[in-house]
Amino acid sequence: MSTRMSTSEGSAKRFLLEPFECRRCGRCCTGEGYVNVSREECEEIASHLRLSFEDFAAAYTIDLSPYLRRLVDAEGEDQPCVFLRRGADGLCSCAIHTAKPSQCRDFPSKWRPEDAKQWCAGLIGNGDGKDPRS
Ligand code: SF4
Ligand code: SF4
Repeated sequence: MSTRMSTSEGSAKRFLLEPFECRRCGRCCTGEGYVNVSREECEEIASHLRLSFEDFAAAYTIDLSPYLRRLVDAEGEDQPCVFLRRGADGLCSCAIHTAKPSQCRDFPSKWRPEDAKQWCAGLIGNGDGKDPRS
């Protein structure tokens, strides 16, 4: 599966008008994509986790440039984001939900890959439309 968010392309106006309710399937947090985080976002997440910037960066990111880092994946065949948590009820959550970076906050209302309706369970007219709990 290659469903992780990877770009920030698309028409924000069109997406913002579309009804959306997250079904917590976790598909946007797995796969071959990536989540880039700015220096400011790293500092916010580090503060949320009560870590120094240096400790957070070393444990959870790779360095792309002086201003940009990328979240690492956890172990797992579906390449989950290191902050993805799966509940016993099958529902997924984000361990840094209140501090998650803009790339995550803005999906899928402000940006999405062209094939997002095929795998995001919360989008109207999505692929199988199955409740992830069933
Ligand atoms: S930071 Fe949270 S919302 Fe973003 S990909 Fe990771 S688990 Fe998903
Ligand atoms: S319903 Fe969409 S936004 Fe919510 S977790 Fe699934 S893929 Fe991500």
